[in-house]
Amino acid sequence: MKNAIIIGAGVGGLATAVRLANKGYSVDVFEKNSFPGGKASSIEKQGYFWGFGPSLFTFPELLDELFIECGRNPKDYYEYNRLDPICKYFFPNGKKLSAFANPEEFGAEAFKQLGEPDENVINHLAKINELYELTKEMFLFSSLQKFSTYTKWSALKTLLNLPKIGLTKTVHNINSSRFQTKELIQLFDRYPTYNGSNPYKSPATLNVIASPEFNKGAYILKGGMPSLSKSLYQLAQELGVSFHFGKCVEHIQLENNLATSVQVDGMSHKADFVVSNMDIYYTYHQLLKKQIKHPKVVDYPMSTSAMIFNWGMKKTFDELDCHNIFFSANYAEEFKAIENKTISNDPTVYVFISQKYNPDHAPVGCENWFTLVNVPPDTGQNWDELVAVTREHIIKKISANLVIDIRQYIECETITDPRTIYDRTISHQGAIYGISSDSPVASFIRHPNFSRKVKNLFFSGGSVHPGGGVPLCLLSAKIIDGLIDE
Ligand SMILES: Cc1cc2nc3c(=O)[nH]c(=O)nc-3n(C[C@H](O)[C@H](O)[C@H](O)COP(=O)(O)OP(=O)(O)OC[C@H]3O[C@@H](n4cnc5c(N)ncnc54)[C@H](O)[C@@H]3O)c2cc1C
Repeated sequence: MKNAIIIGAGVGGLATAVRLANKGYSVDVFEKNSFPGGKASSIEKQGYFWGFGPSLFTFPELLDELFIECGRNPKDYYEYNRLDPICKYFFPNGKKLSAFANPEEFGAEAFKQLGEPDENVINHLAKINELYELTKEMFLFSSLQKFSTYTKWSALKTLLNLPKIGLTKTVHNINSSRFQTKELIQLFDRYPTYNGSNPYKSPATLNVIASPEFNKGAYILKGGMPSLSKSLYQLAQELGVSFHFGKCVEHIQLENNLATSVQVDGMSHKADFVVSNMDIYYTYHQLLKKQIKHPKVVDYPMSTSAMIFNWGMKKTFDELDCHNIFFSANYAEEFKAIENKTISNDPTVYVFISQKYNPDHAPVGCENWFTLVNVPPDTGQNWDELVAVTREHIIKKISANLVIDIRQYIECETITDPRTIYDRTISHQGAIYGISSDSPVASFIRHPNFSRKVKNLFFSGGSVHPGGGVPLCLLSAKIIDGLIDE
């Protein structure tokens, strides 16, 4: 029986472990933490529960498909519900808007609350759905760097329609031309932040990021996103995968263009295949050090990181939904601050309250707030100072919007910043989504899921193709599955 070693038990590593075990490989996963999940793990304190990172669940069919391929009924492992409304938006002028799942209903609400003609919303959602259909096969479901991808009709169709996919304009350019109100422009400009990008710089192709949410649905998992990692971990164990927690891989040994073993605690473990779910930057700079030259793209500028205040709130807030956004007054200035490696004094704040659907995530009468702002990757800023200042700005902003001083209700707190994200996952500069996607060529140059120099070495997870985000990590594992067959 051939054996595969997987480095890291993030979503990409777990999904690859499941796929390879299901193919009949003997699979060993080495994970430096004492638990699985990486960014999709959890934090608990004083009776409160928060996901460490992801909160929004899209493309549930990718997870279902994996369980079904392994002969399992997904319902035996996890449960999810479609959200409607998807998100509640608070604008600095006091206006509010609920984004409903149904495009007509969302359009009608945008007209009622903001005066935006409803057909603008409906047309935009139809256009981004078209964009998704046009780009999905080539950019998401296939390996962009394999010749075979370009022999498929779907890729040819994408290439023939290149002018339509918006590589030459920015997300903000396109949204400004499609909406009349600054609120709707800002609302749709936020989507590139889902992969750590800047709407004023990233190609309009990234408008596609909003498509799954509106056209296929946004979902909430019972137990939150950490339950996705737990379910994958359970399935992997049932398929016979061996997990080695608290074990940090130090080195991948190469011989004659083959990965022959990995080194852990000074001991060598032989492998027929090696899959690194470790951030691609460190896979080259630490694990493969000096044995092969790393591709230039590995050193490109990184996507954004996040600062998160997990607050245990000893009160419930009926005016808040599960997903809530408190927008800044000057969105462009916010991204300028990030470019300048700092945080605006008026950042857009995201508040996710999983307790709204999971009563056991907070004590009775309380809520678990996951309060996030986008921040630059860690290049040596004074994070303690930025945390202290930003905390005050956030409290002031939410208090003004809710017309109540929220400070008095914060009874417990944990703080995540780029340093914490690095510590938990060894992500370069604590960036969440690998290299930045702020350029039209970013998707094309992202590191592939395979090594061009080492035949049996593969890469899964958010720092490689097709990109960051839980669904894309699941897809990286699926692409590797196909590449190993090849
Ligand atoms: C704050 C935040 C918010 C997010 N929001 C969303 C969201 O709403 N929706 C969404 O879909 N996605 C979201 N994401 C992104 C999503 O969580 C990630 O893209 C995904 O979980 C990354 O999975 P991964 O496979 O890249 O592995 P990672 O989570 O990066 O895990 C890598 C694992 O490898 C281990 N490891 C590293 N080096 C070694 C080594 N040398 N030896 C052994 N083990 C090693 C690490 O300990 C870690 O467990 C968010 C992420 C964050 C941080």
